Amino acid sequence: MTVGTVFNMQKYSIHDGPGIRTTIFFKGCPLSCQWCHNPESLVPKTEIVFLENKCIGCRECVKACPASAITFSEQGFCRDKEKCTLCEKCVDMCPTGAMEKLGSKKTVAEVIKEIEKDSIFYEESGGGVTFSGGEALMQPAFLKNLLTSCKEKRIHTALDTSGYASWESLASIADLVDLFLYDIKLMNEEKHKKYTGVSNIPIHENLKKLAARNSKIWIRIPLIPGINDDEQNIEQTGAFIAALNLRDVSLLPYHNIAMDKYTRLDRTYRLQDIRPLSNTQANAIAQRLKAFGLNVKVGG
Ligand code: SF4
Ligand code: SF4
Repeated sequence: MTVGTVFNMQKYSIHDGPGIRTTIFFKGCPLSCQWCHNPESLVPKTEIVFLENKCIGCRECVKACPASAITFSEQGFCRDKEKCTLCEKCVDMCPTGAMEKLGSKKTVAEVIKEIEKDSIFYEESGGGVTFSGGEALMQPAFLKNLLTSCKEKRIHTALDTSGYASWESLASIADLVDLFLYDIKLMNEEKHKKYTGVSNIPIHENLKKLAARNSKIWIRIPLIPGINDDEQNIEQTGAFIAALNLRDVSLLPYHNIAMDKYTRLDRTYRLQDIRPLSNTQANAIAQRLKAFGLNVKVGG
């Protein structure tokens, strides 16, 4: 029985591929993009977070913790991550949801059961399931089993991926994926390393191989002001995509609505000074890419 870690199963998604979809968010990602709007997806294992605004100070979590990992002092709540065994007893006992668990272990059967609940919507809308994250390719056996089961049930499958994986992993599931939603972030390798933590070379090489085997691919480009929206990067990106005979591109303009998530997770949000692009700016970039013969839309 294959088990994986997911942090959300989102119903009625309309921005993760065609039609109405269920999006399964896998936990764990090899990249650390500075603009990531799903920071809860980065760490592969389950995490526990404390939401101060929900806490009523009842101390039930302190009593429940077998590892004596939780204390309250003048500085407030503290969970000793060295002592914590992630047993989740504090989450179970907290009456207000101030202790929250991010990520759950799920079997393939459990995820498929959830996906199948909305089969009628997929059929009526031309939708299906999208595997996203995090990076689903970090849990290759779990992903492959889910894809196989969806294909057996004739459910349309999409994989939203950074493309940062071994070619062997990608090739092993490529025939089971009806549509790749493939991110291209930065063409310059050094900048890619600086802003995402990894090289773009395997990402670009994998995309070339997928395109060569005629996989159906929609390119997604997050537009981050001051990082990848400059003329040189846009021109290089357009030329790269067009040379692979790919056509469909979605521009995903940066927004900062994930900032609160970073606070909850006690992580630093590094792009707080960046302001979102105006519609005019985003449309101008779309026009520049259309000049390469691409079908470009702004939005997911
Ligand atoms: S998850 Fe378990 S060990 Fe960790 S703080 Fe909560 S009760 Fe204690
Ligand atoms: S059990 Fe929940 S509400 Fe009570 S003190 Fe702990 S975190 Fe706060």
